[in-house]
Amino acid sequence: MKQLVVIGNPIKHSLSPIMHNAAIGALKLEKMFHYEKLKVEEKDLKNFVEKIRSGEITGANVTIPYKTTIIKYLDVLTKEADLIGAVNTIYKQNDKVVGHNTDGIGCLEALGERGVETAEKKVVILGAGGAARAIAFAIALNNAKKLVILNRTVSKADELAKSIKNKIGTDVESNGLFAVGEVVKDTDVLINCTSLGMKTVQNKKIHITSTMLSKNITVMDIVYDPPQTKLLEEAKKAGCNTVNGIGMLVYQGAHSFNIWTGRKPPTNVMKNAILWHIKKTKKMKSNIALIGFMGVGKSAVGRSLAEKLDMNFIEIDDLIEKKNGRSILEIFEKEGETRFREMETEVVREVAMTDNAVISCGGGVVLNEINVAMLKENAIVVLLTASSRTIQKRTLNDRTRPLLNTRKRSEKINELLSSRRICYEKAADHIIDTTSLTKKEVTEKVLSTIKGNVLWR
Ligand code: NAP
Repeated sequence: MKQLVVIGNPIKHSLSPIMHNAAIGALKLEKMFHYEKLKVEEKDLKNFVEKIRSGEITGANVTIPYKTTIIKYLDVLTKEADLIGAVNTIYKQNDKVVGHNTDGIGCLEALGERGVETAEKKVVILGAGGAARAIAFAIALNNAKKLVILNRTVSKADELAKSIKNKIGTDVESNGLFAVGEVVKDTDVLINCTSLGMKTVQNKKIHITSTMLSKNITVMDIVYDPPQTKLLEEAKKAGCNTVNGIGMLVYQGAHSFNIWTGRKPPTNVMKNAILWHIKKTKKMKSNIALIGFMGVGKSAVGRSLAEKLDMNFIEIDDLIEKKNGRSILEIFEKEGETRFREMETEVVREVAMTDNAVISCGGGVVLNEINVAMLKENAIVVLLTASSRTIQKRTLNDRTRPLLNTRKRSEKINELLSSRRICYEKAADHIIDTTSLTKKEVTEKVLSTIKGNVLWR
């Protein structure tokens, strides 16, 4: 069995074993490789490298705080690791212990996956530590138009900027973190590479608010625990394209995996393993399901939420109509409500398994406990309510609702509302009364209610 490890101190938080062991399993390499985390004290680093040299350990990832300190014990550095001055992957090749750095390429690939280019763009990097160095060099080598490096310790930002300017010739500026408000104004991409936002760095945050950001900026936070940092929340509020740290974690890991095993790992398996772990441990979900009576604004609010969060919008009733080639009204008339409810459950089953979606549910979806259980597997359920009068007003001219096709419309609304109330409330994780609110206000309220519960992209 070949042993792979990630070393650091502390190391308890590392998600690397989860994704690497998932890749090992997917490639059926369990009998050959196993990946573990290992806490190493600084005084034991030399000894650790000797274990790689002797073959006791096959390969390693290196994380905080050893990416630079370990270099003195290695035999050779790759061109990238030498340029960056930090190492995140170690492997013995031709009897030499070699230090690699896959952080920069991992970051570029995570941005690329989301369609974000850095070539010919202005990029602001917050931080000047190990990860910032790797990313700054990778972006400079990828022909950025301009780089701005801001760090709490300004001398470190200056040193990194000087090094990039000398070695690559990129136009680079440096300053303290305090300058962020000014430099972010005309930037294309902003990447946080400081530890601010990490679960373990509490009560300290980057001073960037939504009002400082224009919606044309892509904001990336390489911190992945939590995956939704305050910075990304502010960026979402400003309507920016956002990229969390999970993509980079997966891609830098995939390159390390390839170095140790010679195999290309399935990055989707690695990402899903991480997402599953995060959702389970943090009680987060991938979707938002809006439930409630007709006329409470599920479709309008759902669309606006999806747009704000860069999520897909799914209307269950629309899907039923598309699948059956008939309107809901026709299905009710020709096949009856019971058959309609069966179709509804089929569609809910399908939709419940998707990710990154805002799902607007028909008014009767939650009457069936099976539908509720399926939705709740992967969605935060938000109940929108409104007073009976408001619903009457909002649905007055709508003739597409089969259950309201009666002359005693207001009585029918009251009857349905009171018979469904318990089901709605039982299914809901959160309840928002929309009676006196605009679409924008309801959207804002949903956003602040679900904060930290939904794992958006
Ligand atoms: P590092 O070498 O220790 O650098 C830490 C950086 O954060 C430095 O720029 C430091 O500024 C800054 N910082 C720390 N505490 C601060 C505070 N209270 N106020 C302002 N700035 C502060 O660490 P690293 O290896 O670069 O990692 C940085 C972050 O990136 C960590 O959260 C790590 O988990 C994450 N990361 C993610 C990935 C991924 O794949 N997604 C990969 C690598 C790292 P000073 O220089 O002033 O101390």
